[in-house]
Amino acid sequence: MSEATDIAVVGAGAAGLMAALQAGRAGGGRVVALDGAARLGAKIRISGGGRCNVTHDVVTEADFHGATPPAIRKVLRQFDVADTVAFFEAEGVELKREEAGKLFPVTERAGTVLDALVEAAEDAGVELRHPYRVERITPTTGGFVLAGPEGRLEARRVILATGGRSVPTTGSDGAGYEIARSLGHTLTEPIVPALVPLRLPEGHPLTALSGISAPVVLEVRAGSGKRLTSVEGAMLLTHFGLSGPAVLDVSRHWILAHAGDEGTRLHVCWLPGEDEPSVDARLRTLGGMQVLFWMRERFPSRLASVLLELAGVDPQVRGDALTRTARRSLVSTLAAMALPVLGSRGWAYAEVTAGGVPLRETRLETLASRVCPGLHLCGEVLDVDGRIGGFNFQWAWASGTSAGRAAARGRARPASR
Ligand SMILES: Cc1cc2nc3c(=O)[nH]c(=O)nc-3n(C[C@H](O)[C@H](O)[C@H](O)COP(=O)(O)OP(=O)(O)OC[C@H]3O[C@@H](n4cnc5c(N)ncnc54)[C@H](O)[C@@H]3O)c2cc1C
Repeated sequence: MSEATDIAVVGAGAAGLMAALQAGRAGGGRVVALDGAARLGAKIRISGGGRCNVTHDVVTEADFHGATPPAIRKVLRQFDVADTVAFFEAEGVELKREEAGKLFPVTERAGTVLDALVEAAEDAGVELRHPYRVERITPTTGGFVLAGPEGRLEARRVILATGGRSVPTTGSDGAGYEIARSLGHTLTEPIVPALVPLRLPEGHPLTALSGISAPVVLEVRAGSGKRLTSVEGAMLLTHFGLSGPAVLDVSRHWILAHAGDEGTRLHVCWLPGEDEPSVDARLRTLGGMQVLFWMRERFPSRLASVLLELAGVDPQVRGDALTRTARRSLVSTLAAMALPVLGSRGWAYAEVTAGGVPLRETRLETLASRVCPGLHLCGEVLDVDGRIGGFNFQWAWASGTSAGRAAARGRARPASR
């Protein structure tokens, strides 16, 4: 005979821990949280460069992609930023605001956040088990049977919080998607890495500038030339290609567009706020100034030299000696240079996943599955991904809270389907 519980939470990452503790607090009966990873909360530990960017001081549906904005808003407002700040404060984790509104623990340690969640879960009576990998969930009369190498568990309700596919060594390897599918859910197509660095061809001149960061505007353009998305922020040049906040934010857009249209291009404007006509006008007024001098007023000197090399412009040339062809080439290099992106650095380097179980397959007030009674879903397994800045954790806290509280209130699976 297998062991039985009221609520089984599958996956004890950010969303699963929050769901479990909220279910425990809401009097959901016996709550067992299972996680396949040998080390609990590995992704929280590595988040925010080891400091965990817990949330952002302003979070709206516009900070997310995947599901529709009204649907995302409905989930977010059930546990907002003020609730997150109050929750962590009550658990002894004070948060501080950093540049651009990111909130971090004052300890500067992601472990503080993880410890607080684990302690809060244990205080709420949650039984945490790991490593405990769930391979199959089978609906039964009145509940589910969860099975895996560690054994079998019967549960009246299940919360699926298995995360996405990013950094699979943390335990989130996409297995949860197949479980969701086996329970009747669909998955968006394709499911791709997001918030991920992008690769340039080996030996591309920009890869020699590793460590240089510049404010830019990045634009994804379809093969037809149509402008699809633009993101402004810092771009970091690396030995493999491109990283930094603007690149991470634009990555999902480039990857998804490229998956359907190989002609998709990524363009960079190295002078935010300028466009081709305005850069052209500036270059026309250089007079006797050397082009390299003008460039060095705007860019780190190594970047200035590489941009001139990419434009095929002699750095020594004076403004009044620039040929029309050279000027045009420099204008397009500075205002709309096409970056020959080969692809992303892949799942091992992605912070999140774009795609997953469509949010419309859940009831937004409870995140209860519309196709499998007794099942709730939360966190990254759902088709919602946020931009960089603490938004993905806010989604985990909000959706986890919603699913956990609702599972505690909810009825078991109906005895007959
Ligand atoms: C390097 C890095 C840095 C990041 N930094 C930030 C940041 O600073 N701020 C921010 O907002 N977001 C950040 N993120 C994103 C954020 O970590 C995720 O969005 C968030 O952790 C998702 O929470 P989740 O609970 O849905 O999934 P996860 O945290 O991935 O947890 C899922 C859990 O489910 C378990 N699991 C999976 N399958 C099974 C199974 N079959 N059986 C049992 N258990 C299973 C896994 O072991 C895992 O512990 C970062 C991500 C990475 C990779």
